[in-house]
Amino acid sequence: MGAPVIGKNRREKVCLVCEQEKEKGIFLFGHFLCIDCNQAIVQTNTDDPNYAFYVQKLRKMVASKIYS
Ligand SMILES: [Zn+2]
Repeated sequence: MGAPVIGKNRREKVCLVCEQEKEKGIFLFGHFLCIDCNQAIVQTNTDDPNYAFYVQKLRKMVASKIYS
């Protein structure tokens, strides 16, 4: 499997969390995380319902790194 390579001249910067193409962000475990989601994760408390959502996304990211 593996992610399909789309586009020839530029690296796809589609955020793993919001699944939108963004200009600014960071690459984490080979996946793109936009600056908005990165900040949201940092600012989310562990008891916030959204935190579980982000953690799940990040786990997916880490898992794909392990299996790639
Ligand atoms: Zn995002």
